Amino acid sequence: MISSLTIAQAHKKLRNKEISSAELVQACIDRIESVDKSLNAIISRNFEKALTEAKKVDSSGGFTNPLSGIPYLTKDVYCEEGVPTTGCSNILRNPTYTPPFDSTTTKRLKKAGAISIAKTNTDEFTMGASTETSCYGVTRNPWDTTRVAGGSSGGSAAGVAAAEGIFALGTDTGGSIRQPAGFCNVSGMRPTYGRTSRYGVMSMASSLDTIGPIAKTAEDMAIILQAIAGKDPLDGTTSDLAVPDYVSELKVSVKGLKIGIPHEYFIDGMSPDVEKAVRDAAKEYEKLGAILVDISLPHTKYALATYYVICPCEVSSNMSRYDGIRYGHGVTGAENLLDHYEKVRGEGFGPEVKRRIMVGTYALSAGYYDAYYRQAQKVRTLIGQDFTEAFKKVDVVLAPVSPTPAFTVGAHANDPVAMYLEDAFMDGAVMAGIPALSIPCGFSNTKSGVPALPIGLQLMGAQWQEGTILRAAHAYQQATDWHTKTPNL
Ligand code: GLN
Repeated sequence: MISSLTIAQAHKKLRNKEISSAELVQACIDRIESVDKSLNAIISRNFEKALTEAKKVDSSGGFTNPLSGIPYLTKDVYCEEGVPTTGCSNILRNPTYTPPFDSTTTKRLKKAGAISIAKTNTDEFTMGASTETSCYGVTRNPWDTTRVAGGSSGGSAAGVAAAEGIFALGTDTGGSIRQPAGFCNVSGMRPTYGRTSRYGVMSMASSLDTIGPIAKTAEDMAIILQAIAGKDPLDGTTSDLAVPDYVSELKVSVKGLKIGIPHEYFIDGMSPDVEKAVRDAAKEYEKLGAILVDISLPHTKYALATYYVICPCEVSSNMSRYDGIRYGHGVTGAENLLDHYEKVRGEGFGPEVKRRIMVGTYALSAGYYDAYYRQAQKVRTLIGQDFTEAFKKVDVVLAPVSPTPAFTVGAHANDPVAMYLEDAFMDGAVMAGIPALSIPCGFSNTKSGVPALPIGLQLMGAQWQEGTILRAAHAYQQATDWHTKTPNL
């Protein structure tokens, strides 16, 4: 099946004229048509336009860029000119919002020749860890459809795992690329905050949101990051630091690389299968010549609480743009402006978005600002300092992505705090603004009728050191075959 090729493999075949881009796009379309009914990873399709673009790329022939003619899936928060984009929220679904412009990331991919074929499911405006807050319903895990694919970029991760696209775009505010990648046995990366442009991507929490790839290998992530990273005049938080050659850097060996193992990331209550798989991965690095170092990140236990103060505060501000006046869900018969807002937002937003708007508005209000938001910002600095200290001793920090493999659909339906706890191992990197990725590192045991479920390994690097964690991930994938395992669909 050619839709299961990696970018690097597909590129070789395109260049050698063994396949055409139109065939590759058609293979992804066929795959979506045959398996997506049981997954719900794809929420809107852009097939005709994609096929037209593929034919254009085929006739221009060169395939000089590794992304030329490669079909991909886009999380439904990236704006693309003329393509319906809803943030998986009823407030933009009816009438459907169709952006008149492209996000910087999809524009850069277009320039490289990549072809966006479909939009993927996400939690509403990316708030969640399972896609269960999406107005389109949950995305199911391709390894066990009674379980979630993770969130919020669950549609993108499930789509890549199921070979519905060659790669996908996600966003990671508090783990939304890494966690679903871990749950679905694919590779996903959150770059340093400011490495990729957020322009044209619907915001959740602007000081935490990052744009990144979900792919089948670390090599593919390097190829994608190469195309999308770098200064964007339309996003003032992007850095003008030069973008290194991530793909060439992959060749550098991990011999002598210092890998820190933080004991705070191995806690009571985590799945023994997860702990074993992650510790085995560390041993594999030792075999490859890396040096393991025990480290401490003492403020780790505050990361989750800090995230769940800062994130809702920024949500409460970002969501205020959805007022139903210029676009999106509208109402008739409102008695006055306030009544209009109440109706539009009351009908348009789901419960998780409303919860965060309320928590954030409360925490930012005059009497509580110092106690919550300001305090959280101080703790954020302390968490960042933990990492700064750690990276004086080590090059990479190795940890699990999630404490357990994918949970069942509905498991946290009545318990938002249990859902928040799913992010426990991912918010440290978020607070520190550092790059972090997830790669497959094993499967749970198949005891008591539960099918084997994928386990993710998390690698974190110092700010702007995406190249270091990508080459560490690549070295692991050269030595193991977990990432080559695909679900039976
Ligand atoms: N699960 C986290 C949340 O609900 C992360 C979301 C994200 O990274 N977009 O906020």
